Amino acid sequence: MIYDLIVVGGGAAGFFGAIQTAERNPSAKILILEKSQKVLSKVKISGGGRCNVTHGCFDPKEMTSYYPRGNKELRGPFHRFLCGDMMGWLEDNDVETKIEDDGRVFPTTDSSQTIIDCFQENCSKHQIEVKLGIGVNALSLENDIWTIQTKEVNFQTKTVLLSTGSTPSVWKMLEEKGHRIIPPVPSLFTFNINHPIIKPLPGISVPNANVKILGTQFEDNGPLLITHWGLSGPAILKLSAWAARELHDKDYKFEIEVNWLNESEEKLRDDLIAIRKNSGSRLLRNFQLVYFPKRLWQGILEQLDLMDKNYADLTKKEIDGLIAILCKCKFQVNGKSTFKDEFVTCGGIDTKEVNFKTMESKLFPKLFFAGEVLNVDAVTGGFNFQAAWTTSFIAAEEISSRITNKNM
Ligand SMILES: Cc1cc2nc3c(=O)[nH]c(=O)nc-3n(C[C@H](O)[C@H](O)[C@H](O)COP(=O)(O)OP(=O)(O)OC[C@H]3O[C@@H](n4cnc5c(N)ncnc54)[C@H](O)[C@@H]3O)c2cc1C
Repeated sequence: MIYDLIVVGGGAAGFFGAIQTAERNPSAKILILEKSQKVLSKVKISGGGRCNVTHGCFDPKEMTSYYPRGNKELRGPFHRFLCGDMMGWLEDNDVETKIEDDGRVFPTTDSSQTIIDCFQENCSKHQIEVKLGIGVNALSLENDIWTIQTKEVNFQTKTVLLSTGSTPSVWKMLEEKGHRIIPPVPSLFTFNINHPIIKPLPGISVPNANVKILGTQFEDNGPLLITHWGLSGPAILKLSAWAARELHDKDYKFEIEVNWLNESEEKLRDDLIAIRKNSGSRLLRNFQLVYFPKRLWQGILEQLDLMDKNYADLTKKEIDGLIAILCKCKFQVNGKSTFKDEFVTCGGIDTKEVNFKTMESKLFPKLFFAGEVLNVDAVTGGFNFQAAWTTSFIAAEEISSRITNKNM
């Protein structure tokens, strides 16, 4: 039997691509091959088990700004299928979603199983076959038909959607066929720091810090979280994505500078002088210069030996030291840790070799790519799934038109 479409990889991009194709071609013969015993396993664990399915961003240009890799290429695709389209599709399929304050979108059930059930029900409805425990080893094209080789058995198909995520053996297979693979390195991780200021304060967060990676142009703003191992939170995760390759090259040993309040030194100095004038007798430890978690404020005072000082008695040197630690607090980073809610790979199929109007390989006809197998990745917040939905949607539109058109 010759299938109309074989999807290699039963993850987010593969399932959505298969369903989108089936919606357009109800009679198409579609097969999903998944090498493990479980489909959609990353969807299951995503977003801490809640599945941050997309982001409340409805402007294609703004959307691309969240993608360190793939931003230019995704602009056209996002005009065709964006976050609102995905939320709409889910709603049409009885999955209600909600946008949280930080823009992340989740199913209202707060359970990733809702998304998995929706995809699996659609597969049954459209009679999409799913075979588990079948790893694809090789692909070859002859007389306009693709042969998909696996250890057990070979399959034949008119079109292939390759959506194997970040799987080194598949990249190797594509490289041997002539595709260029950008070397994979991790993205979305937290920074390991052993420093007396933050060591006793795990769990403390500040709402809007600025973090710079010294010696580079990378800096970002946002909430910052102190953990048992160092620093995390959106500001750190964004930096880890934008600087993924550079930090890998530095073997994750580098220095950062934190401005805890994202405030200028001048503004803090003015505020401090005002407090000295109006409330000079107050102890620093009881009256904070800045709106800050109290434990962090006192941790900084302890470091500077200012716990028992009042504002009036601060020397110029002490004022300079306090402002420096608030605005230019330096930390040596020694390694990284996995951010358990979301991590991705920077690297993959070179986007120059893919037509982003169709997601077809520029080297091989009727071979399409979607999802993390491409050198496309985003910061945290639902953007990585949206890249999977958008690229598989675009591929499905093209695959559908080819299946319909008998001349292919
Ligand atoms: C812990 C964690 C949490 C995450 N949370 C979020 C989140 O909340 N929001 C978000 O936007 N992103 C999140 N991500 C990222 C997101 O999961 C990925 O970007 C997304 O799953 C990519 O989809 P994909 O279909 O391209 O790849 P995958 O989901 O990785 O699917 C690829 C599939 O292909 C199969 N496969 C591989 N090789 C073969 C082969 N040779 N033959 C057959 N099958 C094969 C794999 O077994 C896998 O099932 C998270 C990632 C992780 C690790």
